[in-house]
Amino acid sequence: MKETQSQIFEKDDKNYLPVFNRYKIVLERGEGAYLYDSDGKKYADFLAGIAVNVLGHGYKPLVDAIKNQAEKVIHVSNLYYTKPQADAAEKLVKLSGLDRAFFANSGAEANEGAIKIARKFAHMKDPEKSQIITAWDGFHGRTLATLTATGQPKYHKGFEPLPGGFDYVHYNDISELESKMSEKTCAVMLETIQGEGGVYPPKDDYLKKVRELCDKYEAVLILDEIQSGIGRSGKFFAYEKYGIKPDIVTLAKGLAGGVPIGAFIVTEEIAKAFHAGDHGTTFGGNPLACAAANVVLDTIPDEKFLSHVEEIGAYFKKRLLDLQKKFPEQICDVRGEGLLLGAELSNSKKSGVEIVNECMKRGAIINCTVGKVLRFVPPLIIEKEQVDEVMNILEEVFGE
Ligand SMILES: *Cc1c(COP(=O)(O)O)cnc(C)c1O
Repeated sequence: MKETQSQIFEKDDKNYLPVFNRYKIVLERGEGAYLYDSDGKKYADFLAGIAVNVLGHGYKPLVDAIKNQAEKVIHVSNLYYTKPQADAAEKLVKLSGLDRAFFANSGAEANEGAIKIARKFAHMKDPEKSQIITAWDGFHGRTLATLTATGQPKYHKGFEPLPGGFDYVHYNDISELESKMSEKTCAVMLETIQGEGGVYPPKDDYLKKVRELCDKYEAVLILDEIQSGIGRSGKFFAYEKYGIKPDIVTLAKGLAGGVPIGAFIVTEEIAKAFHAGDHGTTFGGNPLACAAANVVLDTIPDEKFLSHVEEIGAYFKKRLLDLQKKFPEQICDVRGEGLLLGAELSNSKKSGVEIVNECMKRGAIINCTVGKVLRFVPPLIIEKEQVDEVMNILEEVFGE
């Protein structure tokens, strides 16, 4: 007999390390922009596994590519060449305008590699050029170095001593950054659009000025596009929106449409800091993950695909702004780009978690980050119809 959801909750609660506050549904399958729980209840998926399922669920070319690759070979060592990896690296280099790509298995690992190569690059000029500046409210991952790079003290607590050399500034405050930088700055590492910390896009020409300061002090500019990249902003890389280019960009989340992968892409000059043996990975960029990434990389950079993201994102944002107008005492701000949108809650009658739960009951999966910002990172293939469906649910929930 099929296990009930309650039986699965019980088994998992007993055996899985409880580091997540889980919502009480067992998700079983998906189709397009929808997920189904194990009782067959349907949900509009406006989280997409946190900006991962960019092509939605069950996207045929992606499923076929994974199946075909699995039949040929799932994994071989990085001691050998594979065509899927060579193809994916070539595509990322072309798209980014940078020179060399390395594949990891996750966002944290991609950032860890970016930090390592930046340190090694600076070390060759001056062993004391080690300062890495990141932003408060940023998010870069959960390994010791990336959690240190994450400017959210709640994630640091209890894990000290943390790796040294990290300093923090307020995102969008260029004079604070200027005051902290010097010849000893190795790298500035920022999300192009802050995601987990509450959906904060860069203001005015902030990123251009960051670029100028990095040039002035010969510091490496690392942009973390693990959440904001892969078309989510309406451009393939969000930095294209702001007229700058980083020295290193990191990707993960949506890069293989749901198969675990990460990547960092660097300039030739920085690439030279790494020699054989300086970095490595067993799984990173294996043929299965790269076969999936190739489908994403053949689909999303298409102009038509990106203008769809821009259009549907603008429509969704307008509907959120209308919701704010209707409930100004409950929503104090709406912000974001493309399909990375946030609605900040006032200290209103309902908490973020309550709103998320009430949406879930009505068949919509949404997310709340930092306790007070509803975050929307749906599959990039959603249509107006699905936006309307979720907005109607939100109107009901706010109107109660
Ligand atoms: C999710 C995320 C990460 C971490 O990725 P993992 O795959 O969970 O390690 C890093 N940076 C940003 C901006 C993210 O959104």
